[in-house]
Amino acid sequence: MPNYDFILNSKLPKVGTTIFTKMSALAQKTGAVNLSQGFPDFDVDPQLLKLVSKYMAAGHNQYAPMAGAMVLREAIAAKIERLYRVQYNVESEITVTAGATQAIFSAISALIVEGDEVIIFTPAYDCYEPAIDINGGKTIFVKLKSPNYKVDWSEVKRLVSRKTKMINLNTPHNPTGSIWDKHDLEELAHLTKGTGIILLSDEVYEHIIFENKEHQSVLKHKELRDRSLVVASFGKTFHVTGWKMGYIVGPSSIMKEFKKVHQFNVFCCNHPMQLAIASYISNEDNYLHLGSFYEEKRNLFNEAAEQSRFGVLPSSGTYFQLLDYSRITNEDDVQFAERLTEEFKIASIPVSVFYNTPDTNKVLRFCFAKQNETLERAGEILLKI
Ligand code: PMP
Ligand code: GLN
Repeated sequence: MPNYDFILNSKLPKVGTTIFTKMSALAQKTGAVNLSQGFPDFDVDPQLLKLVSKYMAAGHNQYAPMAGAMVLREAIAAKIERLYRVQYNVESEITVTAGATQAIFSAISALIVEGDEVIIFTPAYDCYEPAIDINGGKTIFVKLKSPNYKVDWSEVKRLVSRKTKMINLNTPHNPTGSIWDKHDLEELAHLTKGTGIILLSDEVYEHIIFENKEHQSVLKHKELRDRSLVVASFGKTFHVTGWKMGYIVGPSSIMKEFKKVHQFNVFCCNHPMQLAIASYISNEDNYLHLGSFYEEKRNLFNEAAEQSRFGVLPSSGTYFQLLDYSRITNEDDVQFAERLTEEFKIASIPVSVFYNTPDTNKVLRFCFAKQNETLERAGEILLKI
């Protein structure tokens, strides 16, 4: 290949390879137990796989409608009505997306213009800030404070300005496992009342919540939902992260703008899988048990963690557990995570990468969406560290 000297002005100069790619690759190279990138290591329900084959064999292999197969939009609307007692219009208020990532990127692209400010809570999932940057927005960071990672509403109030176009929330929260309560929704409603602020609510772990706590969706709150786009992921709910399937719902005025971007971003998503999920999701037993299913796994992992030199932080939802290692070493978390992978053969995610400024907390994130044998093996390793 000729070696041309392209002068590229990177649109994302700060962005490199994500920590998920890096840590999963290191885990593979070293043969470590991989509790870094968040994905299940167990099988998908064969019934769901059979449904995909059924729809493929029946010839549903061409483009789906742009906003999603109607049966799936209907199934999503029915689920939302059952769980949150609110009706979303299948024609104008629901779009099926290629995972939550595409929904978030397209939503930010559709709504954020040069100079707009977007508030996000750190530690923050990694796809929000680049989407804001590439669209000329300015990210305003609000730090959640350990060990409970609750929102300090006086801080949010201080940072809201006339330029605030969007607040991006995430409950249950990746990477900390913290969840919002009713009070948080009330504070947010109070803060945004009478403003044009749009909420982008990342609720991909809506069904993974522990100790019978209730997921506080913005969908439950009339004033909030009228200004919200809410994002969900079938990858999390049905243990199929590799399918990259999800959806976004919101009021038609905002959804109209979302769809303008969506149709040129992907146009539509995988058709046979949409039909399979539409059948599968109509049985709520296929997802309503997720909280207790993952709570057992969290407890199994934490039994060992509690006997180790790590400190166990609270995790009320998601499939992540934070462990504090300040009693073990002074190393920074990236260094320590790499050393644990190479020397002890257990991979995790250093939490500092989810902050915009250096963070000195000594905390690692472990994914417990794993078979019990994997978690037991991980537990044995923790006890040796
Ligand atoms: N938001 C959060 C908080 C996540 O943890 C993830 C993935 N783990 C996503 C969005 C992206 O979801 P998807 O894989 O459906 O794109
Ligand atoms: N959401 C997953 C996690 O938090 C990773 C997804 C990805 O690799 N981008 O681990």
